[in-house]
Amino acid sequence: MITPADEALLRRAIGIAARAVTLGDAPYGSLLANPDGIVLAAAHNTVRRDDDITAHPELKLARWAARELDPDMAARTTLYTSCQPCGMCEGGILRSGIGRVVYALSTEQLVALNPQSGAWPAVPYDGPALHDEARDPVAAYYLPAR
Ligand SMILES: [Zn+2]
Repeated sequence: MITPADEALLRRAIGIAARAVTLGDAPYGSLLANPDGIVLAAAHNTVRRDDDITAHPELKLARWAARELDPDMAARTTLYTSCQPCGMCEGGILRSGIGRVVYALSTEQLVALNPQSGAWPAVPYDGPALHDEARDPVAAYYLPAR
């Protein structure tokens, strides 16, 4: 459930997205807030500026949370973001331990505004393969000789 307090923070994330455009960057903004609504960190999309396909604000904040917050604190934060996180960012958010995500535009709503946003071709994955060879370094790491 999205509360009025959530909406206020979500509006700030939308404001970050709007400001990003004035800086020449793509219109995506996010912030990470603690349970009291205090903004701990904020970011906007700098994919073009940094020539870095991973420079999405959600992923930047997930990395920040994993690095700077202990797991208990990370679990009590909420990521507010101007658009629904993409698959890449979802993975980072999961691993970061961030407790909750609140977004404004859904992926479908974004694609309606920018069809390129949904134009990622499927990449074929082949595997598993070479189990015994691939297993050795992993097993040596996780299952040291006893
Ligand atoms: Zn993303």
